[in-house]
Amino acid sequence: MKRIIRINIIFLLGVLLNSCGSKSDSESLLAHKSGESSKLIVCIQPFGNVTAGYLAYVKNSLQKDFSIVKILPKMNLPRTAFVGIRKRYDANKMLWHLQDLYVKRKYPNETFLVGVTESDLCQNRENPQKWKGKLGFGSPDYGIMGLGYQPNSKNIVPSQKVNINSTHRLHSNKKEQLAKLIKHELGHNFGLPHCPNKSCIMRDAEGGNHFNEMTGFCKKCKLQFAITRK
Ligand SMILES: [Zn+2]
Ligand SMILES: [Zn+2]
Repeated sequence: MKRIIRINIIFLLGVLLNSCGSKSDSESLLAHKSGESSKLIVCIQPFGNVTAGYLAYVKNSLQKDFSIVKILPKMNLPRTAFVGIRKRYDANKMLWHLQDLYVKRKYPNETFLVGVTESDLCQNRENPQKWKGKLGFGSPDYGIMGLGYQPNSKNIVPSQKVNINSTHRLHSNKKEQLAKLIKHELGHNFGLPHCPNKSCIMRDAEGGNHFNEMTGFCKKCKLQFAITRK
C-alpha cells in the first residue's frame, strides 16, 4: 500500500450500532493549530437531492476547521459515472468529475471540494473480468461510503483536494455519520492514513459502519497531522 497516491476507501454497510456520536472538539483536526483554520475553504457540492438538514449540520460541524464553508447549488450526478447493473455511481469517476469542476472553477489552492450524494457509490476495479461473479469486497463494483485520495507530500494537486461521500449506507443518525465520513475523507486529503484506534475517525471501516464508535481524531492522528502540516 506504499503507492505515491494511496486510494483509501471505506465501504459497505454493517450492523446498526448504539448511538453515541455527538460532535465534540475531538472531531476537529485543524482548530488547535492557530492560524491554520483561517486559510482553508471547503465547498460542499451536493449531487442530486441531498436533505438540507444534513448539509446544514455538516456545514456547522466543519466551521471549526475551515474559515469558509459553502454549500453550493446542487448538480445532477454525472451519467458517465453510473454503473447500471448495480444502480450505483462509480466513486473514482465521481472524483474525476469533481477534479474537473475544481480546475474549471479555478478554486484557490486552499480550497477542498466535498461531493455529497444520497445515491449509492461503488469502487470499480481496474480489471472487472478478474472479479466477475465475486461478492462483497471481492466483487468488481462493491459498495462504499466515501472516497478520497491521500497525498504523500504538501504539494497536493486537485485530485487530492476532492472527495465524494454518500449517505446511502449511513444509519439512523445520518447527519452525524455524514459529518464524520466527510472528516475521514478530508483526513485522507490532509495526508492521514487509516488508524488502528477503534474510536478514531481515521479508522478503516473494513466492511462495516463504525461511525458511532468513532468519537474523534485520536492524539496520534492529530500529532501526525500537525507534523505533516509543518
Ligand atoms: Zn479511509
Ligand atoms: Zn487515529
